[in-house]
Amino acid sequence: MTLPLSHPALSVTDPELAALVGAEEQLQADTLRLIPSENYVSQAVLEASGTVLQNKYSEGYAGRRYYEGQQNIDQVERLATDRAKALFGVDHANVQPYSGSPANLAVYLAFAEPGDTVMGMALPMGGHLTHGWGVSATGKWFRGVQYGVRHDTGLIDFDEVRDLALKERPKLIFCGGTALPRTIDFAAFAEIARESGAVLVADVAHIAGLIAGGAHPSPVPHADVVSTTTHKTLRGPRGAMLMSREEHAKAIDKAVFPGLQGGPHNQTTAAIAVALHEAAQPSFRDYAHAVVDNAKALAEALLARGFDLVSGGTDNHLILMDLTPKDVPGKVAAKALDRAGIVVNYNTVPYDPRKPFDPSGVRIGTPSLTSRGLATEHMPAVAGWIDRGVTAARTGDEDELAAIRAEVADLMAAFPAPGLPTD
Ligand SMILES: *Cc1c(COP(=O)(O)O)cnc(C)c1O
Repeated sequence: MTLPLSHPALSVTDPELAALVGAEEQLQADTLRLIPSENYVSQAVLEASGTVLQNKYSEGYAGRRYYEGQQNIDQVERLATDRAKALFGVDHANVQPYSGSPANLAVYLAFAEPGDTVMGMALPMGGHLTHGWGVSATGKWFRGVQYGVRHDTGLIDFDEVRDLALKERPKLIFCGGTALPRTIDFAAFAEIARESGAVLVADVAHIAGLIAGGAHPSPVPHADVVSTTTHKTLRGPRGAMLMSREEHAKAIDKAVFPGLQGGPHNQTTAAIAVALHEAAQPSFRDYAHAVVDNAKALAEALLARGFDLVSGGTDNHLILMDLTPKDVPGKVAAKALDRAGIVVNYNTVPYDPRKPFDPSGVRIGTPSLTSRGLATEHMPAVAGWIDRGVTAARTGDEDELAAIRAEVADLMAAFPAPGLPTD
């Protein structure tokens, strides 16, 4: 299926760039996108993020800005923060962080001093760079101590986390991550944070949409600060939010601006407001539960085909496969699947004997395919394509990869993607 031309002004002013955007639209239409941190935003979110709100400088917060002419912008930002507070049930929301990493940096600025000890999950275990990992500013400017998952179960060992917290007395404890297929026990982390005198930060970037839709427990009763991106399962524009109880509101706001950032990206704030409105609808609850149902069905179909899944399956939107038994390195498999029209990312698995740039695993997830309307009955076919693709990666069978690509495009044509041009 060839998509119609769109973006008329762009096509005239800059045909070279317009062609690239068109090619990306076609790619996102034709492929099975399984990267768990990605999604398709709605046409409404796309429109809000492409508005003249872009033209306005708004340093400060609604009602206390350093620039005039905020009659509309203040209302846009209030809409976004009010909707965030209502959706997640929090006292305070700051919607200005430019993305998830700067949001987390603002948390350090609010609650810690350089050199302080901070604790998070190790990156190769499924944590995020900004949770104190060495190559990140958070690991260079703070003293990061890291927990992991158990080798035998692939699950967090709370005795280990508690021992480490009581020994190291971190200022901050981060929970949440980028490759965690299981439900996060926020209450258990909160108890450890209380015992060790740490501020608990729940980084729910990946699962914010599942939380909003009631498909994952909420960190709000337990965590001091909730950090999230807005562009993963929440299905908003690229951006982030920091949420907290009232007692931390001032510290967080001061850290985001003027501590770390300048003017907020008002067009993004607007698109966040739209996404939060969408996430408050009953249909979004259905979406969040369908994401999890699809991931569970996909995990089962993969297990039936002999795939080794970290922790044995999934509770959420994400599956981490260890391809060691399939005798294919993760990167080789990921690149072959890409040629087959199945977009994934290679990923370390816990205790990976291979190097981070050439690891044993592949990470997949169901947020995007669920946004297109694929359901549990399609998951055996998805698992079948992944299986054939991984086998073709091992044998170097390019014809098979091309055949899969055609089959994938054929199915995807029946499930138009939100936000992409249609005829
Ligand atoms: C994606 C993610 C981030 C970072 O978000 P960016 O917008 O890429 O900076 C932070 N923490 C977690 C857990 C994430 O999954």
